[in-house]
Amino acid sequence: MEKGTRAPIVTVLGHVDHGKTTLLDAIRKTSVALKEAGGITQSTGASVVTTKEGKKITFIDTPGHAAFSEMRSRGAKVADIAILVVSADDGVKPQTKEALELIKEAQIPVIVAITKIDLPSADIEGAKGQLEKEGLLFESRGGDTPVVSVSAKEGKGIDELLETINLVAEVHEIKGAPNGNLEAVVIESSKDIKGAFANVVVRNGTLKAGEVIQVENVKSKVRALFNNEGKSVREILPGEPAQIIGFEEIPPVGTRLTKEGVGPTSFAPTKNGGKKLGKIKEGEIAVVIKARSVGSLEALLGSLPPSIVVIDSGVGGVIGSDVLAAKSSNAWIFAFEAGVSANVAKLAKTEGVHIEKFEVIYKLLERLGELLNKGQVEILGKAEILAVFPFNNKKVAGCKVFEGKISKNDNIIITRGEKEIGMAKAVSMKRQKNELTEAKAGEEFGVIFEPRLDFEIGDVLVSVRR
Ligand code: GDP
Repeated sequence: MEKGTRAPIVTVLGHVDHGKTTLLDAIRKTSVALKEAGGITQSTGASVVTTKEGKKITFIDTPGHAAFSEMRSRGAKVADIAILVVSADDGVKPQTKEALELIKEAQIPVIVAITKIDLPSADIEGAKGQLEKEGLLFESRGGDTPVVSVSAKEGKGIDELLETINLVAEVHEIKGAPNGNLEAVVIESSKDIKGAFANVVVRNGTLKAGEVIQVENVKSKVRALFNNEGKSVREILPGEPAQIIGFEEIPPVGTRLTKEGVGPTSFAPTKNGGKKLGKIKEGEIAVVIKARSVGSLEALLGSLPPSIVVIDSGVGGVIGSDVLAAKSSNAWIFAFEAGVSANVAKLAKTEGVHIEKFEVIYKLLERLGELLNKGQVEILGKAEILAVFPFNNKKVAGCKVFEGKISKNDNIIITRGEKEIGMAKAVSMKRQKNELTEAKAGEEFGVIFEPRLDFEIGDVLVSVRR
């Protein structure tokens, strides 16, 4: 590897069922590294693949834009390159457009992977034409977006895709110095018998076992460090994923890790207006606030009642990642003298996120007061998970509705006893082979969530509307 270059960190986005997971699996299968390790890898939330030329590429394991947006929700840069997966037999779909918008906001290069080219109904040129209408200009037409046609099923085009990633990484001079300032980003975090852990990717510097690191404003010691093969290691170099154990509390996804005393001042200020992030308690309302100027944002943040929890705030119009951040925290978006484009309004509508615009602070405060008095969550239905089974590399929950109804695209909170496991969208609902739009009390159905959550039998789905 050339001096200063590191493995590019790559994320896969695109519409549901267009083949993201299958593509990632096919890529991992061709990897020399995996074969050498006997196919057993530790889950660090990312996979390192070695190409035929001996170059390494790090893929973030969870595809889809909900995960991507969560990783970026605290302002951190995670991936260097995005692969936009578009099925040759289905073309551009709503989530393709959303993914494109997110990629644009993240300002990272995109490579288009046209998938499922083995299908008789595949129309590669048709899919490309639709993407051009969305503003992409392909290399073959004098633009700078590479496009690769693949069949993950037949293993076709995978090597070309990997080569293209390496070329893009070279052109964009993706760099990381082992002796530079440590910068790592949390891509997954949870708690198990070893305690709180975080899966991270190191973007710069070297992460060392035993070292004290800074997680936002909290210091923490790296008690143990595991690499992608599940081995306990002394250090992790730039471009590599790792699992860190040693946190007092679970660091949220998207958190940046730096060396003690170095961060986070070396980064952009945290965007949450200084309020504590975390679980929203009963009687509290989560909000994302956007304002036209720093001055008005500060004024607004300073006058909010204590039961308003600002999960994110910033200057400028409402953008797609605000919508997805709001969605993942079940928050409202308040735009104060700030614009909302038609595309963003549409995204908010499909994601079930409320955006309200205000030109006067007291009107906004009045509205918050109203919401606080009334309580904002309406429960549409509840279902219990009776079975869990795999389907196309995904986990399906077999459920039975016991209250109200559950509909496709509902925002679902998964609970286990008193605990909340997480929030996701019901992206696909089926009974036997039939796609459902809703299931009523007493009815059974199978459901796939995005993002994926670690649910189990006995967990309860609660469908909520704010
Ligand atoms: P995701 O939702 O984008 O992660 O999509 P999946 O990877 O789960 O794929 C959705 C469906 O498309 C599954 O039934 C896959 O078997 C199928 N699929 C994925 N890639 C290919 C491909 O290259 N060729 C064919 N024929 N089917 C594919």
